[in-house]
Amino acid sequence: MKRYSAFAVAREALRFHSGWERAWRNPEPKKKYGVIIIGAGGHGLATAYYLGRNFGIKNVAVIEKGWLGGGNTGRNTTIIRSNYLQDPSAAIYEKARGLYETLSQDLNFNVMFSPRGVMMLAQTQHEIRGYQRTAHANALQGVVTEFILPKRVKELCPIINLDGPRYPVLGALWQPRGGTARHDAVAWGYARACSDMGMDIIQKCEVTAVHQKDGKVSGVETTKGTIECDKLGIVVAGHSGVLADMAGFRLPVESVALQALVSEPIKPCMDVVVMANTVHGYMSQSDKGEMVIGGGADGYNNYTQRGSFHHVEETVRALVETFPMISRLKMLRWWGGIVDMTGDRSPILSKTPLENCFINCGWGTGGFKAIPGSGWGMAELMAKGFSPLTDEFSMWRFKEGKFIDESVAAGVAH
Ligand SMILES: Cc1cc2nc3c(=O)[nH]c(=O)nc-3n(C[C@H](O)[C@H](O)[C@H](O)COP(=O)(O)OP(=O)(O)OC[C@H]3O[C@@H](n4cnc5c(N)ncnc54)[C@H](O)[C@@H]3O)c2cc1C
Repeated sequence: MKRYSAFAVAREALRFHSGWERAWRNPEPKKKYGVIIIGAGGHGLATAYYLGRNFGIKNVAVIEKGWLGGGNTGRNTTIIRSNYLQDPSAAIYEKARGLYETLSQDLNFNVMFSPRGVMMLAQTQHEIRGYQRTAHANALQGVVTEFILPKRVKELCPIINLDGPRYPVLGALWQPRGGTARHDAVAWGYARACSDMGMDIIQKCEVTAVHQKDGKVSGVETTKGTIECDKLGIVVAGHSGVLADMAGFRLPVESVALQALVSEPIKPCMDVVVMANTVHGYMSQSDKGEMVIGGGADGYNNYTQRGSFHHVEETVRALVETFPMISRLKMLRWWGGIVDMTGDRSPILSKTPLENCFINCGWGTGGFKAIPGSGWGMAELMAKGFSPLTDEFSMWRFKEGKFIDESVAAGVAH
């Protein structure tokens, strides 16, 4: 595949852009692959990419029931940070954040990583103590964060109202190298690199059953026929419970709709990401000028991949206290995705009771930021049977009581 470069842009400008190739092939499935990954979201594609890049495993198919990146990967609010509390979380999220720094160069695809800084507001005494604790933990983990005072919050984000009627801003946990990236570009970049390595990305192909022989996975049934494989990775976010059921095991995961909205585009007014967990809302400004606003998860299990009006109202009402200027904005659109929530709000990257079948799920409301690190660890787990990045995230931790409690870092915010 031809590389994207400034030279290529100039060359194509001269010949009316007639020489660009398709970014990825659109093949029909083969009869058998070494590895099948179900789900062409960011995590599935990144897993395939690092299987090829780090372990030379390229006889891989990524099977997607819709279009690649059309699940949560293309629906999220793109916040990237690694300021979690527990060591295993900090390790995998910081690995991911570090990989994001050079992802555009690694993939030869501009993922528009923008490390503009992320602040999580402390609006109660309890939050001050919680975030100071996280800042200390992060210092020990080698994750650069600091607890900042209201004056610095205002300097970094002038449109903020520090003296809200219910919850004044008392400080914030600040991660200067957190930020955002373009979500579709992350999926497209990985897809293009996978296709370039000879892997097959098969879209509009739903997996309807998982086949097994002598306790080992042997293939999948799809809407395009039976496809055999030696190893299977299930990476389907909100549908993890459904696929686990097909493979014959149960997961401690619940699926709920989570939603977000954007305003009409306005002039640049905010160049950091702000998260306000007490009032529950977070906001950043996209490159197009829209204010990107994240809302809450539904309070009941469902597979409804769309927004609902009462959440929009709830989220905006809460945010207006801290950002009065948004009361004058019009909403442009809103949407939802199905997120897979575990009880301890940490993901599952694990072997399963079915031999050679692996699962990567439970990223809940915050897995976009983890895509490169998760793909790196999952690929290692699938190739070698062990990865230090994923070791603590086994599905059996719930049975053993070894929870990785991230309810403060991830339960509400993303
Ligand atoms: C509104 C919203 C805001 C969010 N904001 C953030 C944020 O700011 N920061 C952050 O880090 N995270 C955020 N997240 C979470 C993040 O989007 C997800 O954790 C992440 O994208 C999950 O990626 P994935 O690859 O696991 O899943 P997905 O991208 O959902 O991919 C799974 C794929 O599996 C496919 N699939 C399902 N069943 C089958 C089947 N039977 N056969 C074949 N294919 C199948 C689906 O079609 C889908 O494309 C947000 C999520 C939402 C919904």
